[in-house]
Amino acid sequence: MKKVLIIYTGGTIGMAAEEKTGKLAPLNFKNLVKELPELNQFDFVVDSVSTKEIIDSSNANPKLWKEIIDIIHDNYNQYVGFVVLHGTDTMAFTACALSFGIQNLDKPVVITGAQLPLRVIRTDGKENLISAIEIAGTADFLHEVAIYFEYQLLRGNRAQKISSSHFDAFRSPNYPALAESGIKVFYDRPKIQSKSGELLFDSSFSNKILVFTLYPGIDLSKWQKILVDSGIKILIIRSFGSGNAPTSDKFFFAMLEYCKNNNIVVLNTSQCPEGAVNTPSYETGLWQTQFDVVPGYDLTFEAAVVKSMFLAEKLDIQALKLALNTSIAGELTNSDLKI
Ligand code: ASP
Repeated sequence: MKKVLIIYTGGTIGMAAEEKTGKLAPLNFKNLVKELPELNQFDFVVDSVSTKEIIDSSNANPKLWKEIIDIIHDNYNQYVGFVVLHGTDTMAFTACALSFGIQNLDKPVVITGAQLPLRVIRTDGKENLISAIEIAGTADFLHEVAIYFEYQLLRGNRAQKISSSHFDAFRSPNYPALAESGIKVFYDRPKIQSKSGELLFDSSFSNKILVFTLYPGIDLSKWQKILVDSGIKILIIRSFGSGNAPTSDKFFFAMLEYCKNNNIVVLNTSQCPEGAVNTPSYETGLWQTQFDVVPGYDLTFEAAVVKSMFLAEKLDIQALKLALNTSIAGELTNSDLKI
């Protein structure tokens, strides 16, 4: 008999009001099937396990990512697919972590959650969970980590949370949905990844990265205090538009010069969710070529951060630069959008 494994980590989907404070806190579901007897109606078995701690996903970190990757690793051959139940706040980061940590999957890993708890009458969690299980149990061609939310299946490392109030809470700004669901799930098969190598599990992530978000008027004069002797391997700069920065600021150049001379890789990603950072079109983008900065193309912020954490301490500087702007799990399109 086919089996699907649900890995419950917490999040709103499993929350209930605490008696004392009235605040929502994650419940420890002993038995998910009891909460949702509909799960018995699938023509495959649905098992569930919980991570050691049931958390609000704002507390997620590489330890949780490792725990989920290890659970999938240990159970890989027993199940046809996996559903990860996760809070929405950092779901996109965890999706990225699983996509880099389990490469060349040949079965679905579907992450879902909810904006309203399962026990609330208007919950969106029930549809999300039931469809995610259906996809994990039947879409044997789905060889990737995906987020299912509000009738859409998105590539996990392309997705972003965009709403804390609407059910339609995720989008994939630079890659089409893998499927939409209605009376059935309509897959866009050519958009789905095909397995291209050996299955690989790697749950190590480094924290030797740093993110700078640029804004008009930013005081960059303190860069030395932050960067010198920090041990940082990758500096992610969140620039403007197609990769532009305040190039009239001498401290900006001093910081880039320091990075170049001290083997800190600079990754340029844009604050613009749609479009891409590529070969500079503007003078304010020339810093990229001048200082050997890696263009992040159409990486989401979440993918840029988690990919950097995944690679930072695994490769030498040249290999790291190359890997950062090459797709390793479908997370970016490495192509110039010339204007
Ligand atoms: N704070 C919650 C979490 O991310 C929000 C949610 O699940 O929707 O765990």
